Amino acid sequence: MPMVVKVAINGYGTIGRRVADAVEAQRDMKVVGVTKTRPTYEAAIAKEKGFKLFASSADKVKDFENAGIDVEGTLDDLLGEADVVVDCTPSKVGATYIDKYKSFGLKVIFQGGEKADVAEVSFNAYANYNKAYGANSVRVVSCNTTGLCRTLYPIHAEIGIESVYAVMVRRAADPADTKRGPINAIEPSLKVPSHHGPDVRTVIEDLNIFTMAVKVPTTVMHLHSIILKPKRDVSAEEILNIWRKSPRIMFVEGKYGVKSTAQVMDVAREIGRPRSDMYEIVVWSDGVHVDGGTVYYYQAVHQESDVIPENVDAIRAVMQIEDDKMKSIETTDRSLGIEVRYA
Ligand code: NAD
Repeated sequence: MPMVVKVAINGYGTIGRRVADAVEAQRDMKVVGVTKTRPTYEAAIAKEKGFKLFASSADKVKDFENAGIDVEGTLDDLLGEADVVVDCTPSKVGATYIDKYKSFGLKVIFQGGEKADVAEVSFNAYANYNKAYGANSVRVVSCNTTGLCRTLYPIHAEIGIESVYAVMVRRAADPADTKRGPINAIEPSLKVPSHHGPDVRTVIEDLNIFTMAVKVPTTVMHLHSIILKPKRDVSAEEILNIWRKSPRIMFVEGKYGVKSTAQVMDVAREIGRPRSDMYEIVVWSDGVHVDGGTVYYYQAVHQESDVIPENVDAIRAVMQIEDDKMKSIETTDRSLGIEVRYA
């Protein structure tokens, strides 16, 4: 096994840019290059930051040359230099690269926009790191599914969950995305259950979860409203204590002024997070209630960044750099400035 794992990033958008920076923050892995389809500002900035830039295919090289942005070669050249590729192309595009990645004999990390069968394992670090250990391919589940797994898995593992009902209030678009909406409407997902519940079960197979989803005109975060029935009576304090021992959960309190996702993002800015990212799932501790044996809580999910630490752990798992999940999680968290309460 190489001392420092060489990571290729295919697709340098919202997720790819963040994965690249997070990989660069580790000692046991480094980015050997990133791909872009077009010579955009992100491509120019990638080069300024010192990343080797590759065109996604040979027919695009001329576009980069014409724009005065030199590339080192194409995706094939990049894949030839890597041990593992993190596919960060748009939803469903990743699957079209399966054969190419295989032909280079690479381990692959896919993202949550792909169907579960794209990879051997659907991944959340705390819930099933060991299952991904040594796998050839894993799919880091979507931002919403990651959010649900982060808070539900610890409760399910410690006291057991009878059933979960959750509503995802979803952001309409990412902040830089001017193509999507709605911008003045609330759009319910008429497919019930929404895909989130079944997606959680690709990670926590025995969890009885049912989800609905609505899209709202905001760009900054998703908000989940969660109702669950534990297998025995619990108090709100007991639930909070379980989360205090679990990674990548942050607590905020409405009584101290964090009343909405706007203030959660302000917290991320104030603590100096790059791009105002919030890797943790943010739970309102004064919004956790237990009534008649049922637990109610709200959590906010920063869609652009919560999956980033999971991508780093997924690389460690497939490349068998670290066989202890908590050591990988801790290394990742310390490198990204995430509070480590569980060590
Ligand atoms: P994005 O559109 O921001 O970035 C995708 C990148 O891939 C862009 O740089 C684009 O130029 C490039 N690309 C497009 N077609 C390509 C091709 N054929 N070959 C190579 N590169 C190509 O997308 P994103 O939001 O970063 O999403 C990437 C993946 O991560 C998707 O599976 C998505 O579902 C998942 N995801 C997104 C979010 C989010 O909120 N943005 C959160 C979690 C997971």
